[in-house]
Amino acid sequence: MFNKKTIRDVDVRGKKVLVRVDFNVPIQDGKVGDDTRIRASLPTLNYLLQNGAALILCSHLGRPKQGPDPKYSLRPVAEHLARLLGQEVFFAEDCIGPKAEAAAARLQPGQVLLLENTRFHPGEEKNDPEMARQLAALADLYVNDAFGSAHRAHASTEGVAHFLPAVAGFLMEKEIQYLGAAIANPERPFVAVLGGAKISDKIGVIRNLLTKADSILIGGGMANTFFKAQGLEVGDSLVEADAVETARQLLEQKNGKLHLPSDVVIANAFSPDAEHKIIPLGHVPAGWRILDIGPQTVQAYSELIRSARTVVWNGPMGVFEFPAFAKGTFGIAQALAESQAVTIVGGGESVAAVQQSGLADRITHISTGGGASLEMLEGLTLPGVAALLDK
Ligand code: ADP
Ligand code: MG
Repeated sequence: MFNKKTIRDVDVRGKKVLVRVDFNVPIQDGKVGDDTRIRASLPTLNYLLQNGAALILCSHLGRPKQGPDPKYSLRPVAEHLARLLGQEVFFAEDCIGPKAEAAAARLQPGQVLLLENTRFHPGEEKNDPEMARQLAALADLYVNDAFGSAHRAHASTEGVAHFLPAVAGFLMEKEIQYLGAAIANPERPFVAVLGGAKISDKIGVIRNLLTKADSILIGGGMANTFFKAQGLEVGDSLVEADAVETARQLLEQKNGKLHLPSDVVIANAFSPDAEHKIIPLGHVPAGWRILDIGPQTVQAYSELIRSARTVVWNGPMGVFEFPAFAKGTFGIAQALAESQAVTIVGGGESVAAVQQSGLADRITHISTGGGASLEMLEGLTLPGVAALLDK
């Protein structure tokens, strides 16, 4: 299934290995917050170290506007990673140029160097071949383990692979195996659960999944646009006027596969302590808005999820950030946890919701990449993967 070379397929002993990791983690007061993404890279880093490589790590962090900005420095990540690896992690204040070159030249097998934020250079996002060449010149081999950035063709995720032998790390391999298999070759029934704020972000995903999945269960804000397309009043709910026509077409094309909520939770304000009630699907009074799917819908969706063999979930079912409107999302998380299916969750807020639900360890695969996982579900090829050597 995964047809790219990985670190298992190459000899890394005594080599300087440039590893593109996804260390785009939250930093608060100079300290790393949630370190899930750093931990997710450890199998690759430990394997390379145990096999005698010298590691030169690079990543972006945040969206620095113009050049170096201490707010987006990776230095706190070097300290955090040193604790996780139980060894020193050297830090270079630039990812290319004399500082990076000197630090890389000194590096010995078994040692680890982290380079400063690749986005401090405009060449990163422009996929400038000169920047890619300079990054490549630091090492003998390139490993891409940054699944979360693989949908971007940047100098450190794509360009550099044209100047060095380029292979995948274990995280990259695992992500593509789960998401790729679910899309290309799912065990059936294959159920997709789609929610989140906006339908416009995910039209490509809905279109592609309509050709692959047996059922698509819609929730979250995006359901409102489908309700509107059916001629229902949705009060003050979030609706995308521009997408109503598309929603109408999708419903006409594949009415049988698309499932919409049969009841919803409405509130008289967008606030955690708003007055709220459950109503069967119908017109929503003016001044009220839909903030969650209702219990009947949770039950119907849960039955489909429990009898599925493959389940992919992207997008919360409601405004789960407010406890009063989290029951739909947590109910679906419970159904995934109880299902015998291969269960896959992707998307920034969806993953946060599953972690909050306390059920994360009962999900088969939780993707570390929001945008990248969506592009996989759309059936697109990720440029950072395409650039790696074929098996
Ligand atoms: P993901 O990051 O998992 O891909 P999205 O970014 O598409 O998900 O959407 C997540 C957001 O959608 C959540 O912050 C949630 O509050 C919001 N949301 C879900 N249902 C509704 C709703 N009915 N009205 C408004 N916002 C909603
Ligand atoms: Mg999101």
